[in-house]
Amino acid sequence: MALIVHKYGGTSMGSTERIRNVAKRVAKWVRAGHQLVVVPSAMSGETNRLLGLAKELSPEVVTPPIQRELDAIAATGEQVSVGLLSIALQSEGMEAVSYSGWQVPIRTDSSYTKARIQSIDDAKVRADLAAGRVVVITGFQGIDEEGNITTLGRGGSDTSAVAVAAAMKADECLIYTDVDGVYTTDPRIVPEARRMATISFEEMLEMASLGSKVLQIRSVEFAGKYRVPLRVLSSFTPWDIPIDEEAKSGTLITFEEDENMEQAVVSGIAFNRDEAKVTLLGVPDKPGVAFQILGPVADANIDIDVIIQNVSHDGRTDFSFTVHRNDYARCLDLLKTKVAPATGAAQVLGDPKICKVSIVGIGMKSHVGVAAKMFRCLSEEGINIQMISTSEIKTSVVIDEKYMELAVRALHKAFDLDRPAEN
Ligand code: ADP
Ligand code: ASP
Ligand code: MG
Repeated sequence: MALIVHKYGGTSMGSTERIRNVAKRVAKWVRAGHQLVVVPSAMSGETNRLLGLAKELSPEVVTPPIQRELDAIAATGEQVSVGLLSIALQSEGMEAVSYSGWQVPIRTDSSYTKARIQSIDDAKVRADLAAGRVVVITGFQGIDEEGNITTLGRGGSDTSAVAVAAAMKADECLIYTDVDGVYTTDPRIVPEARRMATISFEEMLEMASLGSKVLQIRSVEFAGKYRVPLRVLSSFTPWDIPIDEEAKSGTLITFEEDENMEQAVVSGIAFNRDEAKVTLLGVPDKPGVAFQILGPVADANIDIDVIIQNVSHDGRTDFSFTVHRNDYARCLDLLKTKVAPATGAAQVLGDPKICKVSIVGIGMKSHVGVAAKMFRCLSEEGINIQMISTSEIKTSVVIDEKYMELAVRALHKAFDLDRPAEN
């Protein structure tokens, strides 16, 4: 008997018919003798609908008190899902019980809309499992020290599932979604993309952090920290396929590096449309200025991604960085009202219509000229690069949003990812 965590995404929970299918699949695993904790997302479109309602009523600059309410609103989507799934499981003859984040409780910090899980009390869940129940826990949400409802950021149900699996030392965490695994890039953008039977933890971490929304970055971080066996697979296979077959399907995230295996130089292409660029023009170029700019941004709990500082002219320089689009208006406001006056910057500019495209591969560690090949490919397509950032196993460029699909397709081809896999 194994303890297994299943996570079902929004599309997998998208209608009562699909929820019935999820229940049948879960029941199959229980009947095979396993203990099951199930973490569903809100029904597809629901989180967007709820946040859309809130947006109609909120001012442009979203303050922390408004973010608090956004979390209270968005969390209701998952609350409906767990109740529906628990009923569907009971209709399949299972004993099942649903819990919201606060009932478990799943404790988080108070960073509304992007809270981090701090601890999970699994006592109640363990007691239910021991009594033969299937436990259904809301994805995406938790509760902070003061009892406020928090959410973990878009795609956060993945993180809830892996965190529950880590806390309970589950034997495996299975992420059921609307694709049958992790692909070389988003198959919706590049139909030639190929599914990988396995992907190294390091590469998955980069892919997720660079925008591949098949797994939320923090779920991969949790899996790495607590060594949670993690697999991404389809919820659209017939629910009654043999368990052995299902358990081997999809993509396994691997932690051991196989030294005998020839590593592909580039394994995947990721892209991110969720960022915006801000620029301070004519900043006095002197020690401490980067801190003077980025310190207040960090204090406002705004994450920064790519940063670029130009060569200075006449003692002044230009300083650009990217932030999440959700934080764009707030960041621009902060730069205009506080940072520019304090630093003496001449002007503040913003551009939300950018995207970041990245190539990822462990093989980049041992190969030279990979970034150059990326830049050549983009120049052949006439795409201008605005910013560049690199690490050992990735190169990212910031470009105009309108060239994103073209860039991803061209790079996928240039790095031979369109070819059928050899193994
Ligand atoms: P869920 O609702 O199940 O959490 P998501 O929409 O969050 O599903 O994530 C699954 C989607 O991620 C896929 O439909 C696919 O379009 C997208 N995706 C992006 N990059 C990749 C990739 N490299 N491999 C597979 N899917 C990807
Ligand atoms: N429902 C949330 C979202 O749409 C969480 C999730 O689906 O993972 O982002
Ligand atoms: Mg998701």
